[in-house]
Amino acid sequence: AYVRRPLIAGNWKMNMDHIQAIALVQKLAWTLDDAGHDYGRVEVSVFPPFTDLRSVQTLVAGDKLSLTYGAQDLSAQDSGAYTGDIPGGFLAKLGCTQVLIGHSERREIHHENDELIHAKIEAALRHQLSPLLCVGEGLQVREAGDHVRHTLAQVEAALQGFTAEQLSELVIAYEPVWAIGTGKTAGPEDAQELAQAIRSKLAELYTAEFADSVRVLYGGSVKSSNVAAILEGADVDGALVGGASLDAEEFAKIAQFE
Ligand code: PEP
Repeated sequence: AYVRRPLIAGNWKMNMDHIQAIALVQKLAWTLDDAGHDYGRVEVSVFPPFTDLRSVQTLVAGDKLSLTYGAQDLSAQDSGAYTGDIPGGFLAKLGCTQVLIGHSERREIHHENDELIHAKIEAALRHQLSPLLCVGEGLQVREAGDHVRHTLAQVEAALQGFTAEQLSELVIAYEPVWAIGTGKTAGPEDAQELAQAIRSKLAELYTAEFADSVRVLYGGSVKSSNVAAILEGADVDGALVGGASLDAEEFAKIAQFE
């Protein structure tokens, strides 16, 4: 029995235009309905590119789908001269309830640092978007045995100064960078080790009650064949899925992990 409602989240990255998005969301919803998916038991959400969000909103609202959705990033600002950026207010108007923040590809390719990630969490909270904060170490840090310290430092820097009340809808995804899109998965023990360490850190920064309420996901080459073992960890409350979320049947199987 889960204390927290598991979340299976699909990060589409820079894949699927708005036409493909409609087909994928429809197929996902049908497949989950056919399988009798209980959304009250396991939440399923998708994170399409910005340009798909309007189509996803129309579909979810029109067909009264129980899927939730969000964006893969947001601006730390609310409006103004920020060419190419998208603010939280626009996302909220498109029915987004969540937003990925600090994905390793944003940290690496766009050089997002802890300070910017902190500001993005603040922006998400201003617009009642639940931040899905991504943390995790690269290969060098892992090989040096410094992964726990590194990951917890990212958590602490991102959350600094926020109250537990502000963070009531926070979700954290532990994603070891060396396991993203590489086919290498951290073992279920690694996922549990870090999920537990993150929860202990939250208890230290806030309260045990708060720490127990936050969902901590694992991400990194999750598939239908490995999801059940990963989610056996008592502190692992779901998965953030990249590649395998682009296939409706495979992603539905992941959501049906039990
Ligand atoms: C991700 O992008 O968050 C991710 C975990 O990707 P993949 O499942 O493809 O490793």
